[in-house]
Amino acid sequence: GKIILGDQILDRPDVHIDLEDRGYQFGDGVYEVIRVYGGKLFTMKEHIDRLFASAKKIKLDISMAPEQMQKLVEDLVKENKVDFGSVYMQVTRGAAPRTHMFPKPASNTKAVFTAYTNVVPRPASQLENGVEAITAEDIRWLRCDIKSLNLLPNVLAKQEAADAGCFEAILHRSGIVTEGSSSNAYIVKNGEVITHPADHLILNGITRQVLVKLCKENGIPFVEKEFELKDLQNADEVFITSTTSEVMPVIKVDGKTVGDGTPGKITRKLQELFEAKINREIMV
Ligand code: PLP
Repeated sequence: GKIILGDQILDRPDVHIDLEDRGYQFGDGVYEVIRVYGGKLFTMKEHIDRLFASAKKIKLDISMAPEQMQKLVEDLVKENKVDFGSVYMQVTRGAAPRTHMFPKPASNTKAVFTAYTNVVPRPASQLENGVEAITAEDIRWLRCDIKSLNLLPNVLAKQEAADAGCFEAILHRSGIVTEGSSSNAYIVKNGEVITHPADHLILNGITRQVLVKLCKENGIPFVEKEFELKDLQNADEVFITSTTSEVMPVIKVDGKTVGDGTPGKITRKLQELFEAKINREIMV
């Protein structure tokens, strides 16, 4: 397949990234993952806006207009004939002799934008049956609102989940549940959907933002407030959301059954609403 480097669409073997790219050496960059449904990029503008917002927060100048980036990514998806899949895009601070401080403007170091596509089906059986999760301490930094390339704590937590035969690790800071290692986390209690406020301790997921809207439009109470591990253990329903996992029911946490051990009613309702939104987007 083709990939994007800078403002060009190239064959993958023709693309070479420098050994001293700051993304490679420092994780000095930001990224996004966008879902493709029926050849259409889902919530693309929101993802591109967040990429630029993340870049701004680390003082990284992407030196490309969002509109140009959007057009490039749309062209890539068309060229690669992606029907159901995803686009991974990242921007690093570029290649420069290794030193922690930013390259000097005079060095003419440019941000490096790359993107490629993947073909991935929707996780149908997991969406239907639900998944299991563990809990793990959130050992990340205090700017989790930035979608940065530094994912080592997330990687370690996800591996811990995988080693336990689970799908996700739900993270907590001293007992306060923040989010998943690569997802946002929610509980349902007495008919209310509860999730951590979108502050510096979590990534404000695009799927989360879609959910906020869907809840509002459909009269489902959505409350952004802190909740604890014990609330997670005593929840009526638990679910996580992300671009690739959509609205994913969690039926066991740390080996303990959530509710009656099947995806809950409100989770199901949110899945239906989300599915309807996907189908509307595919149609236009
Ligand atoms: N939180 C973290 C740490 C993530 O890595 C992700 C996405 O992968 C999310 C939340 C969900 O964000 P989105 O819905 O935009 O995919």
